[in-house]
Amino acid sequence: MSVPASHRVVWSLLALLAGCRGRVPATLEQIEADQLALPAVYLTTDGRELIVPANRGDVIVAPGARELAFRAYTCTNPDCPNRERGSAGRPFLFTWPDPLWKVDEQGQLQFDVVPDRAAETVRRGGLPEPTCPGCLERRAKEGESAETRQRYRNWVVYYELPESAARRKELDAEHRNQLQKQGRRR
Ligand SMILES: [Zn+2]
Repeated sequence: MSVPASHRVVWSLLALLAGCRGRVPATLEQIEADQLALPAVYLTTDGRELIVPANRGDVIVAPGARELAFRAYTCTNPDCPNRERGSAGRPFLFTWPDPLWKVDEQGQLQFDVVPDRAAETVRRGGLPEPTCPGCLERRAKEGESAETRQRYRNWVVYYELPESAARRKELDAEHRNQLQKQGRRR
């Protein structure tokens, strides 16, 4: 039975609205590619939110602007002072801006190659690792033990969109499923 053209338009619209959910990639390679390309949140310096496939890396040029946007992080410390300070349905988000990146005249991403990246980052006002600005206010500026520092570091994670988290679960399940099938065929 053929589907009338008008219905097909509705179905493709519905598919768009539903994102890619439920679509089953045919091969393990496709599943892995989809896992890496799940939509993620990036933030410009002034807090503008962009949703871009995560395989673009930690830094992008905001489309239509000569402006950097960095991948959004969130803090999972149960006592984080910014825990309740999210907005627009998001938890509190922040970035780890890297001062060695810039946008050139052509609007392309450029990286300053320097001998000591970590030292130069800090010299230019960057932080040595992803850091929650809320927790940072409470942390001892000096004399913090390596253990405490690592604990704060572990609380800082990439923010994952709820729809990407749901899709990741589906893809993970399908990945296991296909591996099992391949095992059986051997
Ligand atoms: Zn925090």
